[in-house]
Amino acid sequence: MQEKHIISKIKESYPFVDIIFGTHTLHKFPEDLYKVLQEKRKLEDILDIDGEIHEGLPIKRDSKIKASVTIMNGCNNFCTYCIVPYVRGRERSRKPEDILKEIRELAKDGYKEITLLGQNVNSYLKVEQAKRNNSNEYKEINSFATLLTAINKIDGIERIRFVSPHPKDFTDDVIDAIAKCDKVCKLIHLPLQSGNTKVLKEMNRKYTKEQYLNLVQKMKERIPNLTLSTDIIVGFPGETDKEFEDTLDVVKKVKFEQVYMFIYSRRIGTPGDKMENQIPDEVKHKRFDKLKALVESQIEENNKKYINTIQDVLVEGTSKNNSNLLSGRTDSNKVVVFEGTNNLIGKMVKLKIVSEHMWYLKGKLEN
Ligand code: SF4
Repeated sequence: MQEKHIISKIKESYPFVDIIFGTHTLHKFPEDLYKVLQEKRKLEDILDIDGEIHEGLPIKRDSKIKASVTIMNGCNNFCTYCIVPYVRGRERSRKPEDILKEIRELAKDGYKEITLLGQNVNSYLKVEQAKRNNSNEYKEINSFATLLTAINKIDGIERIRFVSPHPKDFTDDVIDAIAKCDKVCKLIHLPLQSGNTKVLKEMNRKYTKEQYLNLVQKMKERIPNLTLSTDIIVGFPGETDKEFEDTLDVVKKVKFEQVYMFIYSRRIGTPGDKMENQIPDEVKHKRFDKLKALVESQIEENNKKYINTIQDVLVEGTSKNNSNLLSGRTDSNKVVVFEGTNNLIGKMVKLKIVSEHMWYLKGKLEN
């Protein structure tokens, strides 16, 4: 709703809609609803400026085991394909004490796994620190690395994940914190987007192919049992077949555990939408299929490495495809199904992996 053309579309196509509100006025929803009911009129409540962070809004969570916790809103990066900075505003971080309070309460309620959310998590508190001229306001927790370390100490929480970091902000202190904190999962999501330096420049990603590969190398050296997942966009404006080969080259070199693949699609209001050299759909699809084939062949090969290993698995519930089996995830976020009793749901168990399939593994409880 922060995009003007979307508001027009809603008004045109769904004239019965009573309230339109944006991301910066979410906290005012009860008040807006009351007004609409009392005054029997339509209401539009959109703010263009960056919203403050409002603490204490109720959150409905589906799982009783895993919870997501927002640590920051907005983004300052302006990647040329992305609408987020325009609709979510500038980067602003929640206070460490508010985040820790929320996670302590989640731990008390029995949650075992926390995923920290933000558009650029590893620049947590950077903006606030700069505004305060590096004053001592944030003493103990003054960065993403120190936040991870503090959350790692919370009793009851067994796993910490985070999405998404930006490769350009992946500093050594964050790498060291991941290596040292036993609860921080060693599967790191490191968005690549493209493996070609020229395309990365056009995307305004602020790293080169070589810098990305060097970062991966450094992380592999310093973080034992590291696995990586990534996001890739295929067919960004101007991408040639040869430049796309660089993306395949990085995928071959890094051997990601998981790749989230996207065909580039134009977003009104972004610089990418205005670029003239858009790639025809059939070319984008051809490249996508090539990438998908490579990724799937790597997953198949990678899955074999799990056979006969013992994995710590957080049991999430019964399997969606077979209610006689339980399902959980490894540290590397692989789905594992196994025979077990319902009292194991929500617990961490040790499983021996006995077979592999494209999208899941089968395990057996270790006594
Ligand atoms: S892709 Fe991520 S880092 Fe880039 S502008 Fe969008 S939210 Fe920000």
